[in-house]
Amino acid sequence: MKIILFGPPGAGKGTQAKLLIEKYNIVQISTGDMLRDCVAKGTEIGKKVKSIMEKGELVSDDIIISLISDRISEEDCSNGFILDGFPRTITQAQSLDAMFDEREISIDHVLEIDVDFDLLLGRIEKRASENEEARQDDNSSVLSKRLLVYKEQTMPVLSYYQEMNKLKKINGMLNIEDVFKEILNVVESE
Ligand code: ADP
Repeated sequence: MKIILFGPPGAGKGTQAKLLIEKYNIVQISTGDMLRDCVAKGTEIGKKVKSIMEKGELVSDDIIISLISDRISEEDCSNGFILDGFPRTITQAQSLDAMFDEREISIDHVLEIDVDFDLLLGRIEKRASENEEARQDDNSSVLSKRLLVYKEQTMPVLSYYQEMNKLKKINGMLNIEDVFKEILNVVESE
């Protein structure tokens, strides 16, 4: 099973992705986690992306596309995967289509966790205050930037999948279990 999971920062994407990987025995591919790992290890990529991430801006498409292309070729992806945080631009979405064509695979579900934007800032600030190892980019000024970037660069990607009739909206304002139930309804009904 291959799933793309969309949602703005604070929508609960990572939480739902974890529930899905357990249920279907697939892997989670989070470009945010992969990049944070590169930064923590101080790799060449990590050095390039650190300041961009701290500002809440997007890392260049080239870097992301090559990370994803290598990752989906790995053995553990053969049973399926969830893309979490990718594609975030139209260029990334088109490259993903090309990668899939080349490998003769296709995406099964494209899901959008739909939430009220006005409530997100509060949610993330709460997360940042409760967690001692809060992410560098979880503070209100950077979060506002991440939300803006989502609206400007990633919402067009939703339209891209909508036009292909692939996009399914999930109500992300419910509690964690009920959001997961909605996701399962969609995933199991097709
Ligand atoms: P969010 O909680 O905002 O969804 P992520 O953990 O997915 O955050 O990503 C954190 C940061 O990593 C982003 O703000 C961006 O700088 C970078 N990043 C992650 N995925 C991508 C991507 N697909 N394209 C460009 N930049 C990305």
